[in-house]
This record gives sequence, C-alpha cells and structure tokens, in this order.
Amino acid sequence: TTTIDAPPLGPMLDDIVRSHRPPREAGSVPANIPSLAAVPFSRFGIAVATAAGEIFTSGDADVPFSIQSISKVFTLAMALRRDSSGALWSRVLREPSGSAFNSLVQLEVEHGIPRNPFINAGALVVTDRLMEETPDAATAVLRFLTGQTGEPGPFIDEAAAVSELSNSSRNLALAHFLKDFGNLRQSAEAVVENYVRQCSIMMTCAELAKAGLFLAREGRGTSGTVVSRSEAKRIGSIMLTCGMYDAAGEFAYRVGLPGKSGVGGGILVIVPGHCAISVWSPRLDAKGNSLAGSAALADLSDRTGWSVF
Ligand code: GLU
Repeated sequence: TTTIDAPPLGPMLDDIVRSHRPPREAGSVPANIPSLAAVPFSRFGIAVATAAGEIFTSGDADVPFSIQSISKVFTLAMALRRDSSGALWSRVLREPSGSAFNSLVQLEVEHGIPRNPFINAGALVVTDRLMEETPDAATAVLRFLTGQTGEPGPFIDEAAAVSELSNSSRNLALAHFLKDFGNLRQSAEAVVENYVRQCSIMMTCAELAKAGLFLAREGRGTSGTVVSRSEAKRIGSIMLTCGMYDAAGEFAYRVGLPGKSGVGGGILVIVPGHCAISVWSPRLDAKGNSLAGSAALADLSDRTGWSVF
C-alpha cells in the first residue's frame, strides 16, 4: 500500500467543499426520475478512502444519494466474477459510445450489441447476465455494496424505483430491442425492473468511496478479493474511456483518472494504488455529469497531482 503524500487531505477537502459547493441554482435534473428533482441544489459532499484504510470526508459526505449509473461499475464487477469464459464480452463491446447514454440508434447499427457496459443498453445486458444466477439481481447488488462498506447503510429507495419505472419507456424500448436481437435472456420487463432498482440504491459519499476501494487495490476489497488484478485494471480502463457518458474525453483531459458518474449527481473516481474518491452534487451539466462534482475533481487532481498519466 502507498500512503498519501499530498498536502494534508482533511483541510484540503474542506477547502474543496468551500470552493465548489454551488452558491445558487445552476445546471439541470434528469427528466425521467422525478424524485431527483427534489434534492436541494446546494448539496455537496466528498470522501476519499485510502488503500491504507483511512477515510477522509467533508461537506455532505454522510447524506445518502441515489447512485444511479455508478451502480453499473459494481454490476460489471459482479458479472465478470461469474464470467470465467469471457462470454459476456461477446454480448457487449468495450468502445466509448460518443452518443447519449440511452441512445437507441447505435444499438441498431451494432445489431443489438451495446457499445459498452456503462451505457444503458450495455448495463441491461450485464443485469440480464446477473439474473441468470440471481433473479433478484438488485438485492444481490445491494448485498455486495453492504459487504464492501462493512456497514448496513446502503438501501434501495423503492419509491424512487417505482416512480422511475413508470417513466421507463426508453429503457423498456432498449430492452425489447436487445431481446429482439437475441441479446437478452430474461423478459425485458424483469430486466428493466432490476436495473431501475439497482440504480435506485442510496449511498453516502463515505460508503461509496469504501465500496469502490477494491478498484484502487488491484481487486482486493475490504474482506477479500472481489476481482482479479487484471479485471480491476480492465474495469478502470472502461471507466476511463466510457464512464462519463459522452464527456469521457473531456473528463480524462480535466481529471486524468478513471471515473463513473450517475444522474443522481455522484461520481466515483479511482486513483490506482492510492484511493477511491467519491463526490456528490446533484445538479448536472448538459452531458449528465455533476456540474460541481466534475469541477471539484479537476481541482483535487490538480492540487494533489493524482492522475494515471
Ligand atoms: N436510471 C437511470 C436511467 O436509466 C440511470 C441514468 C444514469 O445515471 O446514467 O435513465
């Protein structure tokens, strides 16, 4: 393990919160998830979980928020664990999409093979894969996260899931499209329901940073190996190239670290060998990434020099 050698982290995170907590309403909220619009714009939390087992937090780091698409990192790790033959990679590609996370067009062009596991179509395939052994995949994801955080904190916001489910025409369309191409084993409805529930998991920044730590520690989680060193590297690579919707290039330029964001305003970032960082601020930019969260991570990586480059 490596110790953090940058300036003292606690005061630095406090300063990041002071500089980046939004002073006024700016940015947008996702149209298809009514519950997210109710979150106050001024929420801002940050947490760093180090490979050595320390945790540093500041701001609203103990307020649970909806992890949304960040769940896709964990479902991918869980699916890869069961995929010793590599068969999953014949059902989903590993290329950045360059188009919106819920795009239908690309799926038709690629004959039902999603571009990567972090766009919605790809995540639906991954959830379908998990459901082969575990029909209640969302609960399995929750159990995995609870295990990694070592606390009973994470929970599924069932009311948010129900309300998103009644606004899920597009995800259902994607699922039916996948099914038509023969790339979905379970029913489209069952897969979308599990997917939406997994997206509705609520976690704090502190919990999320702890849960992501295995990716910074060559696959070693808080209680044993989660994925192999090679798989951890590969998940990080997919985060770097595909983790920030169609702004992955911009985020790599500004932050230089693998990350995955969700429309709940959270971002999970990995500094291989050092730490996992999570930041949360609910208002989004035009690409669906947390406005203040992205700016804070660019600032933090500049101040610390943390980068994979
Ligand atoms: N549940 C959301 C959806 O499928 C997740 C979106 C996201 O965070 O990218 O639209």
